[in-house]
Amino acid sequence: MVALEEVRVGVHPLERFSEILSREEMHEALSTANRMRRRLSRRVVWNINSTSAGGGVAEMLPSLLGYTRSVGIDTRWLVIRGEPEFFRVTKRLHHALHGSAGDGSPLDEEARQIYESALSAAALEFASQVQKGDLVLLHDPQTAGMATALGGKGIHLIWRCHIGSDSSNEEVECGWEFLRPYLEQIPAYVFSRENYVPVMCDHGKSVVITPSIDAFSAKNQDLSEDAVRTILVHTGLVEGPSPEHPDHGFVRDDGTPGRVGRRAEVVRLGRPPAWETPLIVQISRWDPLKDMRGVMEGFARLCGQGDGQAELVLAGPNVNSVSDDPEGAGVFEEVVEAWHQLPAAARNRVHLASLPGDDVEENAAIVNALQRHATIVVQKSLREGFGLTATEAMWKQRPVVASAVGGLQDQIEDGVSGVLLKDPEDLDAFAGILAELLASPERMARLGAAARERVRERFLGLGHLIKYATLFERLSDD
Ligand code: UDP
Repeated sequence: MVALEEVRVGVHPLERFSEILSREEMHEALSTANRMRRRLSRRVVWNINSTSAGGGVAEMLPSLLGYTRSVGIDTRWLVIRGEPEFFRVTKRLHHALHGSAGDGSPLDEEARQIYESALSAAALEFASQVQKGDLVLLHDPQTAGMATALGGKGIHLIWRCHIGSDSSNEEVECGWEFLRPYLEQIPAYVFSRENYVPVMCDHGKSVVITPSIDAFSAKNQDLSEDAVRTILVHTGLVEGPSPEHPDHGFVRDDGTPGRVGRRAEVVRLGRPPAWETPLIVQISRWDPLKDMRGVMEGFARLCGQGDGQAELVLAGPNVNSVSDDPEGAGVFEEVVEAWHQLPAAARNRVHLASLPGDDVEENAAIVNALQRHATIVVQKSLREGFGLTATEAMWKQRPVVASAVGGLQDQIEDGVSGVLLKDPEDLDAFAGILAELLASPERMARLGAAARERVRERFLGLGHLIKYATLFERLSDD
């Protein structure tokens, strides 16, 4: 079996950013790019993670790599292929680093063997491609174990961890202990927040780089109202008719026109929501820590408080499409089960959507349209490394209600560029925030405007790349 597969990466012109950045910002970016091209000539910057679709890492890599390639830096993306057992262990590890027990299985010697045998095969395959002087970014716990076999080859290894926990507990400690032997072989780490850096990585070897979004990708590019409506009617997320001038279109990353042709599968009782119906939307993988079920139950309390008109759309990938997430199908089933138990008045107003995943950019255009059409976007995670979905919605000027956990606390200034729910399990407080916002369109508009500005200042891809450049310069000096 092939242990690693290369993902094709496009080329995205950096000059696009001149539409949204100042002259000085563009100047800084272009001069950094030139410096890096000279410094990295004849070297490859490799990125290795565990899926090419689904989740925040797979979302960011095509953009970051596409811009880097456009300035003449040879950047490549490889994905680990593993057996279901391997992904069961890595998902368990992922939960542990978030402080949760996941499926409760032990992170013991047997788990370590499963983990190491998949990763040593991957490292062996990779060793025949990588060369002295190359930079290698291993992303997340799924790849950290490759470090053992890659040491001593004159390559610059970096571990990029996208997850973490605000506070420690037994699970968190157990997760880090599991990773310790591999991390000890790596000279540099990147985390998304300062307090995610565990003591073992905290010796001047870690830098913090906040994740970013690509304003021009199919996920975030501007869409006309006709395009939003056409896409949502076509996919079955909003009731027809299509607008007078239907427009399924979006622009693919390679600049060619794309068109949404597939439909979503939606669990619901009646008809799709009308175009005018206010929508509360959460878009996530079907992962217990995203708490789709809690969102639905909180929404049911809102329905119980009065006769409001808002409806809820919970949307996620079709559960067969995310290769490194073995929990998706089970979580989706649990959410459907809980939906059956809702009082009828609430059940009628909840739509559980599985979005087609065969074409990543088509999927992105559907998410884009849904976020743009949402009256409120929610990210009521129980834990969160950094919630890209919140940043995506903020860029679209949506009022976002998110849990005060993990990176979401850095993304949103409470009451200014969104609203933070202090205790993500407090469903009454959640329902109260939604009710207050729905009653105040002016407040929602104010939050949305501030949200976009916050993203423009802090969470767009160029700033992200400049921070990587600084790190690469330091490492390649060594
Ligand atoms: N996403 C998507 N389609 C879906 C569900 C999620 O494209 O059906 C995207 C979402 O827009 C975001 C990413 O997956 O870009 C999720 O990243 P986030 O940081 O919010 O969470 P993660 O999944 O990495 O924990």
